[in-house]
Amino acid sequence: MYSRTYTFSQLQGSIWGFVVGDALGVPVEFEPRVVLKSFPVKHMRGYGTHKQPQGTWSDDSSLLFCTMESLCQGYNLQDMAKKFIEWYRNGLWTPYGQVFDVGNTTRNGILNLEKGNLVHEATLNDERSIGNGSLMRILPIVFWVSKMSINERFEIIKQVSSLTHAHLRSVLACFIYVEFMWQLIENKTLRKAYENTQLLVNDFCDRQYFLKAEAKHFHRILQEDISKYKESEISSTGYVVHTLEAALWSFFTGNNYEEVTTLAVNLGDDTDTTGAIAGSMAGLYYGLDSIPEDWRDVIARKMDILFLIEKFYHALNK
Ligand SMILES: [Mg+2]
Repeated sequence: MYSRTYTFSQLQGSIWGFVVGDALGVPVEFEPRVVLKSFPVKHMRGYGTHKQPQGTWSDDSSLLFCTMESLCQGYNLQDMAKKFIEWYRNGLWTPYGQVFDVGNTTRNGILNLEKGNLVHEATLNDERSIGNGSLMRILPIVFWVSKMSINERFEIIKQVSSLTHAHLRSVLACFIYVEFMWQLIENKTLRKAYENTQLLVNDFCDRQYFLKAEAKHFHRILQEDISKYKESEISSTGYVVHTLEAALWSFFTGNNYEEVTTLAVNLGDDTDTTGAIAGSMAGLYYGLDSIPEDWRDVIARKMDILFLIEKFYHALNK
């Protein structure tokens, strides 16, 4: 019944859109919006916050690639955890062999994985740990769950998020994102994709008593129309609700890949993650060719990424 399909080019568009958006944000991560107003990002820059050359992607893309590589061998949380540890300890899927950026909850989550626990239980009820650290690596799961029912999709998303971020708000943010990406894959208009996502997610949350309270935190996305808000009403911190709001707002406000990602990055604060999430939506919707070629050309380990995307596609479509 659930035989939804995606094309190789949709997969490419979303992954490259993500990585390029991440790299666009890296040099200005943590910059406040007011600073970027007078010095906005308009093209791929180098150095800045992390003193990394042009085209350097961050932990967001590293953990995304680790997830993809793990899924090439099938769905195995233990293996996924092993790859995250390998990234943190030995620089697996880093641009130049070094980890230069890691969020607190992700770091603590990985230390917990090293003890053999596949759920970061400390985050279950901790309001301070509702960051975007699982949202920023969930994109490969969009493709993994293509043949699953909504209940199964939610369960997989919950498990994968909980490796580092077990709070239901982080899980729900990932779920809304995955459902929205599917609506885009199915070639809906932006409006239709958004409306369908609201219907599907609201209906699902209504039927799951444990999600009802959490869904309220997403009311600007799920009950209202996030695209109608003014820029001044959109926050772009590392709080997962802010990240999802900011990414959707940028995606609806911009008219092409370049506009969407520069809007997202110039919101300031958690620029790499906002840029990456908004970039994945724009790359999927407008296509790979919409991503400026000179932005893609400078991306670190371009060939490795190309091969990984091919390997991932073939592994999932055998
Ligand atoms: Mg990052």
